[in-house]
Amino acid sequence: MSLLDFYRLLAQALSEFARNGYDNQETLNAWLAKLRHAANQALPGPEKVRRDVQARLGQMFKRAISEQRFKRQHPWLTAYTIQRMGPKLAPLLERRILASVDLIRLHREQSIEKTLQRFQGLVTSIPPGGTRSIELGKEKQRIGKALRQMSFEERRVVIDQGHKLIANINQTVAEDNNALGFFWRHVHQAGYDGRPEHEARDGKFFAIRDNWAIKAGLMKRGPNPYADEIDLPAVAPFCRCWATYVYNIRELPKECLTQKGLDRVTDSK
Ligand SMILES: [Zn+2]
Repeated sequence: MSLLDFYRLLAQALSEFARNGYDNQETLNAWLAKLRHAANQALPGPEKVRRDVQARLGQMFKRAISEQRFKRQHPWLTAYTIQRMGPKLAPLLERRILASVDLIRLHREQSIEKTLQRFQGLVTSIPPGGTRSIELGKEKQRIGKALRQMSFEERRVVIDQGHKLIANINQTVAEDNNALGFFWRHVHQAGYDGRPEHEARDGKFFAIRDNWAIKAGLMKRGPNPYADEIDLPAVAPFCRCWATYVYNIRELPKECLTQKGLDRVTDSK
């Protein structure tokens, strides 16, 4: 059964109500049950959703741990490190797949409810005896809108969860390798509405609290808040910001070095 079959059934229901009007709850309930069943059949089932999500997030995962991507966010770590990290990163993918499937299931239920509500709202307003004033084609489109948007919603969920997956991967790598902090990277891209407060962070450095260099008296927080005091890149919904992590005091902005740190950096040059 496809979305087209659903529309056909919906058209049947609407013309019946337009002809006879709304005069009893039983007829309405019977149509609601039929339409619910048809909507359920028309949308992809949980197994197919899971397979799709797994394939798409799996691809993003592969790309995120590719050497080229890895070098962009962790330019000062070796490719060997990411290989070593593999077993730690795989569960992050699994977690994102589960979250995506769950979110899509919620969207699916909501879109079916919304569709049935719109249908019910319209037909219960038709007086017994029917009406000629309903534009059936237009109403059919309006009522079915939420179902039509499901594939779009599904894509949005997967893209967003993909960004969160990549952010998780990078945080895990950073933590595991004792990163000192990161430079915020804002994405300028046509058709992407970034958050102004994220754009303001572009290029700024955010220190990780209590890292080894701070404990050794070589480093200080600097002018910006600690990383744990802000929302991290790609964690907020539909945020595409990313980070370049720093592992070595030589790569830190000068304002994050203490005198001892500055001495150390100049000595080693
Ligand atoms: Zn952002």
